[in-house]
Amino acid sequence: MELDKMDENDWKYHGEGNKSLVVSHVQHPRVLRLLKYPAEDSENPPQTAEQAYRQIQNIVDFSSNVMSSLLGEKFIHSGEVVKLPLEFVRQLSIKVQHQRPAWRCDKVMDIYSGCALCLPNLTSPALHQPTHTPPLCIEIKPKCGFLPSPKHVSKDIKTKVCRYCMHQHYKVANGKWKRRSFYCPLDLFSGNRQRMHFAIRHLIEEPQNNFKVFKGGQCIYSSKEGSDESPDMNSLLHHLRPYFLHTNNRMNSHVTSKAVLNDFIQVLVNALLSSGGGDGGVVADRQAEGRGFCEASIFNKERIRHGSRGLPSDSVLFRILQTQMLDTLDIEGLFPLYRQVEQHLQDFPKERTRLQIEGPYNEAFLEKLQKCPAEDDGSVEYAVAKVHQYRVAMTAKDCSIMVALVPSSEEEEDNESLSSQRQLRDFRPPAFSCSASILDLDPKPFDSIPRQLRLDQKIVSCYLRTGGALP
Ligand code: ATP
Ligand code: MG
Ligand code: MG
Repeated sequence: MELDKMDENDWKYHGEGNKSLVVSHVQHPRVLRLLKYPAEDSENPPQTAEQAYRQIQNIVDFSSNVMSSLLGEKFIHSGEVVKLPLEFVRQLSIKVQHQRPAWRCDKVMDIYSGCALCLPNLTSPALHQPTHTPPLCIEIKPKCGFLPSPKHVSKDIKTKVCRYCMHQHYKVANGKWKRRSFYCPLDLFSGNRQRMHFAIRHLIEEPQNNFKVFKGGQCIYSSKEGSDESPDMNSLLHHLRPYFLHTNNRMNSHVTSKAVLNDFIQVLVNALLSSGGGDGGVVADRQAEGRGFCEASIFNKERIRHGSRGLPSDSVLFRILQTQMLDTLDIEGLFPLYRQVEQHLQDFPKERTRLQIEGPYNEAFLEKLQKCPAEDDGSVEYAVAKVHQYRVAMTAKDCSIMVALVPSSEEEEDNESLSSQRQLRDFRPPAFSCSASILDLDPKPFDSIPRQLRLDQKIVSCYLRTGGALP
């Protein structure tokens, strides 16, 4: 990319989250991820260009030095900070404005710093030689996949109903979404194929901001916030059909929609469970601890025909769950330690640097959180390590998985189908090369922790007030 010859016509709107807006290159498999600010700050940006550069460099460092070591390098693309011509950024912002969803326009794209994160476009993978059929990429934001330990929580309900399911009631009560989703992260992270299938079906039915499908780099399926309409499942099926016409080794154009959907979900479950190369073992699931089931999930436990096998230890879901579980104290158990650190920093402001509160996110930071004493010895080092662990877990609870399904070309298909047949016995999926990546690995600010506690309290009390009453 020649930074001095940037042309806004080479880039198009790709998507956005709460913190950043993403544009993709029209030819090369690349995206630019730009920061966003609250619209009321649009005239005077909340930080200088140097600070914006530092913020993005921190994101790169956190992803490449900390998250990549915890989640597995093979899943991570950390990208690099780029400095763009301001005129290009201004033109780009004008160009994409009309494509942005209205409900995201409470924030504006940063046009002052000229800084952006340049990443590979994970929705246009070039795993093999280009095929005639464009790749399908599925983005899943799985959220937290375990229940907190009863030791640290004040409300019993938190050990029975998972955070995502409780949050759903809160979001519907506050009008953020019209309908509740019946997706439950504990089903997705169970490692049990039936439960995972069930979870993905509910992600498809009510995608909210947890599920998107891209075809050839274009988003073809997603939710609109606050909208009454459900996303168009028929249109999704129409797109998926050509990929799933093989049944029993034969091309079959009369495959029912139900079969297309089932095959699609099956392929996704396989991709999420696959080891992506290594041969790690299956790890015992959390059933024994009683922390693997959410009482609000509408999955009927009696339907489980095969016992849960747990997640393979090198699968993308296992790595994410392990990292989420660095939150061992729950926000309630962590908060006193946060206060201890805060007090310490007030007394000794210079300690902020040594304790790496705002980074740098290097190996020493990783070591601080990995070498945390097993017991609280009252030291500030212990408190800081737990806060660092909690922040890393927050990032893992907020990241997305991008599963890329690249249809194999004709010649490859025979070999592929042989090996996948062996793996899957009676199920023969269309031949895809699958890969998984993890995206959105920003560090969560130290001072966002009090907000987390308040949100947790609001969600739990809302659930206790309305949860039982709603269907
Ligand atoms: P959130 O609100 O979830 O925290 P965010 O503001 O941090 O989101 P991202 O999730 O990183 O932003 O990016 C927004 C969207 O842009 C993603 O959901 C995804 O669809 C798309 N996107 C981000 N990075 C890439 C990439 N490398 N390749 C392709 N698409 C991407
Ligand atoms: Mg995101
Ligand atoms: Mg994010």
